[in-house]
Amino acid sequence: RQLQYQNEARPKKLAIKEPTTEAMVKKAKDLRKHRQSLPIYSARDIIIKEVKENACVVIVGETGSGKTTQIPQYLLESGLAAHGTISVTQPRRVAAINLAKRVAEEVGTPIGQKVGYSIRFDDTSSKDSLIKYMTDGIMLRELLSDRLLLRYSVIILDEAHERTLRTDILFGMVKSIQKQRQEMIEKGRKDIQPLKIVIMSATLDAEKFSEYFYNAKIMYISGRQFPVKILNTIEPQPDYVDSALVTAFQIHQEEAPGDILIFLTGQEEIESLEKLIEEYAVDLPPSVGKLIPCPIFAAQDSATQQKIFEPAPPGTRKVILATNIAETSITIPNIRYVIDTGCHKSRGYNAKIGIESLLVEPVSKSSARQRMGRAGREAPGLCFRLYTEDSFDQLEEDAIPEIKRCNLESAILSLKATGIDNVTEFDFMDRPSKSGLLRSLEHLYALEALNDEGKLTEVGTKMAAFPVDPPYAKVLLQSEKMECTKEAIEIISLLSVDTIFSAPSSKREEANEARQKFTSLDGDHLTLLNTLRAYESVKGDRDWCRENFINSRHMRHVMDVRKQLIQFCERAGMDPKKSCGHDLEIVLKCFLAGFFQNTALLQPDGTYRSILGGLTISVHPSSSLFGKKREAIMYNELVFTTKHYIRGVSALESAWLSQAAPKYFGQRRA
Ligand code: ADP
Ligand code: MG
Repeated sequence: RQLQYQNEARPKKLAIKEPTTEAMVKKAKDLRKHRQSLPIYSARDIIIKEVKENACVVIVGETGSGKTTQIPQYLLESGLAAHGTISVTQPRRVAAINLAKRVAEEVGTPIGQKVGYSIRFDDTSSKDSLIKYMTDGIMLRELLSDRLLLRYSVIILDEAHERTLRTDILFGMVKSIQKQRQEMIEKGRKDIQPLKIVIMSATLDAEKFSEYFYNAKIMYISGRQFPVKILNTIEPQPDYVDSALVTAFQIHQEEAPGDILIFLTGQEEIESLEKLIEEYAVDLPPSVGKLIPCPIFAAQDSATQQKIFEPAPPGTRKVILATNIAETSITIPNIRYVIDTGCHKSRGYNAKIGIESLLVEPVSKSSARQRMGRAGREAPGLCFRLYTEDSFDQLEEDAIPEIKRCNLESAILSLKATGIDNVTEFDFMDRPSKSGLLRSLEHLYALEALNDEGKLTEVGTKMAAFPVDPPYAKVLLQSEKMECTKEAIEIISLLSVDTIFSAPSSKREEANEARQKFTSLDGDHLTLLNTLRAYESVKGDRDWCRENFINSRHMRHVMDVRKQLIQFCERAGMDPKKSCGHDLEIVLKCFLAGFFQNTALLQPDGTYRSILGGLTISVHPSSSLFGKKREAIMYNELVFTTKHYIRGVSALESAWLSQAAPKYFGQRRA
């Protein structure tokens, strides 16, 4: 066994030492020229001066000007890493890896020595690393063991304009850490060094960051931007992958040399378009040069990834297939043509069940402008928008910060898990309302995630590790006790999409009839489960889906979420296969442990009234309990249109209520 371990370990070590330092130093020399040609180079001295003289600095610079790759090196060269590592946080893993590798090359040492990166399950950094690229999630995790982040002398929060929930929480945390360290120094602690904070953003609205960081100085780095002409489609495009394909070939055959960058939403799309381009490229007339697809996504080896930065062979043209990572995180040279699908996967959050998600949504205007800008870095360019001008006008100006969209309960849980108990006093950049915070705290208490003093309980600690909203996390934890984890995972996955049923208005009758087969008298949770069982028994056959009015795309998404949830349960030490068999009443009781606040009782007049708040509510017509009268019901979602409608409804016995949440119902009676 030991031998085997050594055999495995050895090549790894060798690989780190393998590239000779000499070769790398030569390459670094070539790279020096490139470094000096970047727009940011002329601001080098002033950047160093400002960071040395100030505790916080905000740096705004156009994408590609050299912020992420150069500023950490400038600070290193000026001696700012003498008392600790310079860290650079990134919202995306691929960007962290890619940029770290590039900077290691520029510095002239193999990755993992002077320059390293750290992302989940992959840490190349060592204690000697002077510059470390990392995801914001890893930084939050490091806070658990190093509350003052003492190993860092400078923390650069990059891509601040993205306003991810994690970066937002980091803003508040590093601000407080900087203050704490300063106070300790003033008290005479010789072993503590001050912390420098640098905020970097690609968009101009930096005043807000500056105000938050004690009116920090804002430095603007001008980039190079050539004009870019925008072309919108005349008609909306139902299949943007297909439209992107057609447009790419149109550009290739009609436009001057220069590479194409296509913005897609994820790996699956990227791979399918890559295949399509390869297929169609075969039919190009011999007079036209090759069109070479270059995908970029997370699960890809670094040689393939490096290909996107290398020039296309003469006479050929590259077409880069990327997600919004190419918007501001990574700059690819020689792009003259951008094809913008207008969509992205909204990072991190599915408001339906709060799971870290993969929802495809329209981008904001400011994203669309960033995408356009990528075409004009080296020469005038063209941007093909696969949507109409009207659709552009309807886009949101800016993406809403995640902290405003996300359920606060999960943010509170992560804060508490990092040791911040007084969350109402936490220094949020965009402060959630106090009443909202209090309501969330009360709910977490009722879910038994917090104790009487508001401290995280063991249950709460476990809940914080799940990537779903706290009520769903509670259901998962409860399912272990009730031995129905398999069913709980399945139902939560099924609830992660709008609906798995399709009901075209022309065939509503038929659709309803088809659905009868799956309907459970107990309501929607078990109806969903029945449908999943049937779907699995035919192995997800698409014809079957069509005949039974099941949305097969949504169903595949459900399976994907299920896979993720299974992994999380395994990681939490649970058995995701534990099943309650036919005793499905258990599953409903299990859900009630998370959703006791979403319950309603039948009134003598035949309406339902919610137990919390006493609202009169109506069962949504799409529910299997529509028009049925049961003594008590529970629901997952309350939607307000003309009435208060509830969705995801199941019947209960009222006696279950006090068992499900003794804290909640006990209190209310007292
Ligand atoms: P910013 O952070 O201001 O957007 P960067 O520091 O990321 O700018 O990029 C500066 C330059 O370095 C860009 O011109 C980009 O093309 C180049 N660059 C970054 N990573 C690589 C890489 N892996 N290979 C080649 N060039 C790269
Ligand atoms: Mg950058």
